[in-house]
Amino acid sequence: MAKTAITPTRAEDYPEWFQQVVRAADMAETSAVRGCIVIKPWGYRLWENMQRSLDDMFKATGHQNAYFPLFIPMSFLEKEAEHVEGFAKECAVVTHHRLEPDPDGGLRPAGKLEEPLIVRPTSETIIGATYAKWVQSYRDLPILINQWANVVRWEMRTRMFLRTAEFLWQEGHTVHATAEEAVEETERMIDVYADFAENWMAMPVIVGSKTDSERFPGAVETLSIEAMMQDRKALQAGTSHFLGQNFSKAQEIKFQSETGDIQYAWTTSWGVSTRLVGALVMTHSDDDGLVLPPRLAPIQIVIQPIYKGDDQRGQILQYVNELRDQIAAQKYDNQPIRIEIDDRDIRGGEKKWYHVKRGVPIRLEVGPKDMAADSVFVGRRDQPKCIGMDKAEFVAKVSDLLAQIQTGLFERALAMRNDNTVTIDNEADFRSFFTPANAKNPEIHGGFAKCHFASEADLADLLKELKVTPRCIPRGDNHPGKCFLTGKPAEHYAIFAKSY
Ligand code: AMP
Repeated sequence: MAKTAITPTRAEDYPEWFQQVVRAADMAETSAVRGCIVIKPWGYRLWENMQRSLDDMFKATGHQNAYFPLFIPMSFLEKEAEHVEGFAKECAVVTHHRLEPDPDGGLRPAGKLEEPLIVRPTSETIIGATYAKWVQSYRDLPILINQWANVVRWEMRTRMFLRTAEFLWQEGHTVHATAEEAVEETERMIDVYADFAENWMAMPVIVGSKTDSERFPGAVETLSIEAMMQDRKALQAGTSHFLGQNFSKAQEIKFQSETGDIQYAWTTSWGVSTRLVGALVMTHSDDDGLVLPPRLAPIQIVIQPIYKGDDQRGQILQYVNELRDQIAAQKYDNQPIRIEIDDRDIRGGEKKWYHVKRGVPIRLEVGPKDMAADSVFVGRRDQPKCIGMDKAEFVAKVSDLLAQIQTGLFERALAMRNDNTVTIDNEADFRSFFTPANAKNPEIHGGFAKCHFASEADLADLLKELKVTPRCIPRGDNHPGKCFLTGKPAEHYAIFAKSY
């Protein structure tokens, strides 16, 4: 068996493989606080690239950024019944505002707050209370605001990036005069997320609406993008909520319409988080570590100069500096190519694996022989073998190569999803699809099952037994049929899967 840079491999133990890829790429580590991670520079640079492109897309669709407080008065949360019920179980609560010495020589909280403050698990309530002040007339609408922030949800089962107790995200919060406009906004933003997932992350997603049981607490409708990870589990990668008038009624967001009457406004909210970093790792990486799509890679190309002694060093460095400048002058994705030279004094093999494990899309080795032949030795992260190439040809083709890698990753992920998506119309097939075939690695089985269903209540026991959930009701080609379990007429099918 070939030796891999990551142990265990995906096939041996997928969850542990994920942790090891994150560690080997030096993206993040666990912290002293349970469920909270330290995002290290390589992981954070990736997040920054995601932020930058998403932020551009938000601005291009008319949104502006603002910032609201971290703390939410408990009474604000109480105003929307479903919302409070949904989030109460995972709220961090601040009850005191200072520390004082205790008799044992330690410290204890003191200065009890009159009203406890909640560390935001999401900001509908505090932003809604602010919007109630801002909105008076139809002329104040729409409000199209996004905030980049951290939130806290006291999750019990946590996993690096995918589910953490504190995470970084953006949350858009908008207010509209009509239901139609708010629905349009909800759809526009899920489309932005789908565009980002597919064209930047190279991660194919299914866009659809959540069923009743999976909807955001307080929403009328939740749209989501769902992606298949390499263990065939689903990951909810982003959500956009049509909140109807639920929050505007709870928080008195009212306006005078053109005809003079007072109406409640219509609101939406939408968010993606650092979970996307985990999604990226799980979608593309292999048994040698991280694999990054070029559009988001912090470094797209790394040059590894190879030489012996100071004489060679001077010549090779001059040669690779010129090469770097030639490549950096090329554009990929309308931006200068992100290229670095790694001239650290460490062994060549070690250096190679350092960049492989961090997922750099293209690695160039340049030694005296390459210099003499005016060639470069090219290692593509998405392919097993390195190839020699004429230097001028490489420079001319470099942006095409990056584009090819980007598309290739998307196509590979799409093929994997298609290979593991089935249509199921009976209980026996549903059961066998979701029953581990490989006892040694029970994580690897199943996939996406497209099944018609009439009512979630009918399915509850079966889904609970198999630990399967409805991921979304895909929009687009959906059509009526018969419930796979009861045979009752069903309006549409949903994607069922095990999920993160
Ligand atoms: P929500 O406000 O629940 O719709 O969440 C918005 C997005 O944040 C979800 O689609 C997830 O991608 C992400 N998310 C939710 N909970 C967590 C968590 N504990 N850790 C990381 N990301 C999360």
